[in-house]
Amino acid sequence: MRITVYDGKDCIGGNKIYVQIDDKTGFFFDFGNNFSTSDKYFHDYLVERSVGGINTYVELDMIPKLNIYRADLIPADLDVSSFKNVPVQAVLLSHAHADHAGMIGLLREDIAVVASPLSLALLKSFKDTGQTYLGSDFTYFKQRIPSDDDGFVLEPPRNATPVWRPLYATGEADDTFYEFMRASPYARAELPEPDIRSADELPFDVKAIPVDHSIPGAVGFIVEADETIAYTGDFRFHGTHGGDTERFIKEAKKAGVSTLIIEGTRVSRENDHYVSEEDVQQAINAEFSERDGPLFVNFNGNDLDRLRTVAEAAKKNGRTLLITEKLLYKLLAANSAGYSCSLDGIKVLLPFASSTVRAWQKNLRDAYPDLFVTIPDVRNRLEEYVIYLNYYNVKDLADIRPDGGTYVHSASEAFGEEQEFDFVRMSNWLKHYKIEIVGFEMRYDRMLGRERPFFVGNFHASGHASAEEIARTVDVIDPDRLIPVHTLERGWFYERWDGKVKS
Ligand SMILES: [Zn+2]
Repeated sequence: MRITVYDGKDCIGGNKIYVQIDDKTGFFFDFGNNFSTSDKYFHDYLVERSVGGINTYVELDMIPKLNIYRADLIPADLDVSSFKNVPVQAVLLSHAHADHAGMIGLLREDIAVVASPLSLALLKSFKDTGQTYLGSDFTYFKQRIPSDDDGFVLEPPRNATPVWRPLYATGEADDTFYEFMRASPYARAELPEPDIRSADELPFDVKAIPVDHSIPGAVGFIVEADETIAYTGDFRFHGTHGGDTERFIKEAKKAGVSTLIIEGTRVSRENDHYVSEEDVQQAINAEFSERDGPLFVNFNGNDLDRLRTVAEAAKKNGRTLLITEKLLYKLLAANSAGYSCSLDGIKVLLPFASSTVRAWQKNLRDAYPDLFVTIPDVRNRLEEYVIYLNYYNVKDLADIRPDGGTYVHSASEAFGEEQEFDFVRMSNWLKHYKIEIVGFEMRYDRMLGRERPFFVGNFHASGHASAEEIARTVDVIDPDRLIPVHTLERGWFYERWDGKVKS
């Protein structure tokens, strides 16, 4: 067995970890988008030219030069003859975050995705609701053909029938999951039948064990071949499923793992203070119970456990949580695959938008007509609701027109300067409507000569384990070889397990 970390080593995310079992068999652990690389080249409207297929990614060294990509994404002027041949049957996907899954769409269509039913349903929901970048062709997609004589421009014909990649579900799922996977997002076309098999049918022995993370459906993997390896993906203990992570550690120890590939996101974070999802529940509940006026809340839209936390706090305080249509779709996708978040106390606020309604939206509105409210419905009754407000829909404030209120920031801190500017803009909107901000405050930074956000209170729990918990995980599993990924601090691992750490 040979392990090559093509990406995701000295950065947070972008994991592309190749494992070759023998000369015919191999797989990747995750095939994600490396945001530290893509942020170097892309921002806002400066994005890759998708009609160029994989060309931009190859030119900018964003993907490994291997013969693993879809033929329909290779333009005629891109020479891939020097790309190395390696056997790849599958991507073992730890969870559906883009820094782990975001480049899967580029892979050859015979390369399977092995993931929990929850992750598969979420990936499909991302695609159904309009993620259009190439990497989001995770599950089904339309193959491209040249639209020019030279074959430099690759586009999917409008009426093409989509194809599915083979999917392997690592856990049990019932009919609602298969129903969701079959549901067509198109108004006038069906989706072909998806090809979903059980992970037991793979040509190598894989065990997927749920772990706790800030998106449902996360798993860690244990693969047994001539040696036994384990991959944690991203994990934590302080969410609502910490017991799952403990079970993963136990199983890995029992399996006698010789190589452990482990994340280390938080090992180097300074001033890292411990906040659990339970702390967040209490903080949000306390905040909601003290306020009479309009309430707005922000959280990461993939963090469905947080959505549940917020919905429960809203209900406890006699309010209805208003979310976006996309978020409802995602929640229903997750619920179809075994997640459980009640819709009781949740509704969708429809913003003023163009009259074009896409098929997935129409299906949703037909199936749940009582769940939708409009801005005029809520404008004069804001104290009955908690409104989900993020960076992209903050502009709806201009239509909602609140006069005062409270905004609770229950999401990650700003990482990097660009994100700090997003917070500045967000706080400008909130200030304009005299809305008090809870969870962060803007302070003047004399070194920078500008305002930047400082995060206060227990309104967010990280998706990752702390340094001490990572150390305990390594010590309990006690592998011969340790490969740290998803970390800026490999040195931290060398300091503790010097002889064992391999890159
Ligand atoms: Zn993650």
